[in-house]
Amino acid sequence: MTQFSFTLSATDGAARTGVIHTPRGEIRTPAFMPVGTAATVKAMLPESVRATGADILLGNTYHLMLRPTAERIARLGGLHKFMNWERPILTDSGGFQVMSLASVRKLTEEGVTFSSHIDGSKHHLSPERSMEIQKLLGSDIVMAFDECPALPADDATVAKSMRLSMRWAQRSRDAFGDRPGHALFGIMQGGVTRDLREESATKLKEIGFDGYAIGGLAVGEGQEAMFSVLDYAPGFLPADKPRYLMGVGKPDDIVGAVARGIDMMDCVLPSRSGRTGQAWTRRGQINIKNARHMDDPRPLDEACSCPACRNYSRAYLHHVFKAQEMISGMLLTWHNLHYYQDLMAGLRAAIAAGQLSAFVADFHAQRAAGDIDPL
Ligand SMILES: [Zn+2]
Repeated sequence: MTQFSFTLSATDGAARTGVIHTPRGEIRTPAFMPVGTAATVKAMLPESVRATGADILLGNTYHLMLRPTAERIARLGGLHKFMNWERPILTDSGGFQVMSLASVRKLTEEGVTFSSHIDGSKHHLSPERSMEIQKLLGSDIVMAFDECPALPADDATVAKSMRLSMRWAQRSRDAFGDRPGHALFGIMQGGVTRDLREESATKLKEIGFDGYAIGGLAVGEGQEAMFSVLDYAPGFLPADKPRYLMGVGKPDDIVGAVARGIDMMDCVLPSRSGRTGQAWTRRGQINIKNARHMDDPRPLDEACSCPACRNYSRAYLHHVFKAQEMISGMLLTWHNLHYYQDLMAGLRAAIAAGQLSAFVADFHAQRAAGDIDPL
């Protein structure tokens, strides 16, 4: 059986490209992971998600433990079978979403007790329970259970929370045990403070993980602050393991993160914005609701090979959005995911060719040029 492993094939400055090998298939890095919150990437069939170029999906422990429950998914053969996605799945630990979605939380050294945002029922999550749930789901890449403090927060608060997360990281490692073919990733915390980031990374390396995530960013600190952390934080992590930046982001966030040595990212943005009439293209963001598209027979992006661009006009996409037809969210989500995967493929090829700085300059120049002129 294929074990979990990571092969780096080329670097360009701090940027890296390679392959994560798993028993369920290869993940080309840098990788963008579409988010399949409730065992579905909203508005997309799994085979359509794969057709955009995605090698791996992200599933949310918090949502799945509440509905339909991890035990039910396990009885039905695991998350891959349940949602008809045979390739790798990464699941988050539930920690972040408990903090952001659940109400009536009680946080102790042991874990967190909370009420479901769906029906108010009481639940508990701890490092041990999170490992158990992610095992029941059958996730290929399991995330350690951590706490993410609400920002802004002072250094003492961030340090206290980070050290709790490091104790939980050790408990997650112990509870995960030895599962060949499955990986456990630790999560670096420490806010925007360099010393705390370094302390967190040192602790995680002592424990030893199959990959390392950078958590606690993209939570409202702004791109400049995030990039200033990414200028040093990836360098604290082992070069021979994948580095995952959680919850990022917009296309220019992704390009900046990859240039700073990030290998994996996830974000709801391309799918969520597809349902609100927003399209991401090489030329920036397009609002399909805008009246300028009403009579426009041209595609969203003439260089895109997705079905929304190949087969439909801006006028049609504008019409179905206005008419609140389901195909609107389906087509725009498909386009957005396709654009994100095209961007990742472009980044991988540029790094392999040692041409990343030219690629990044061209990326910014095309966006600066803006959308095609109205007719
Ligand atoms: Zn397209």
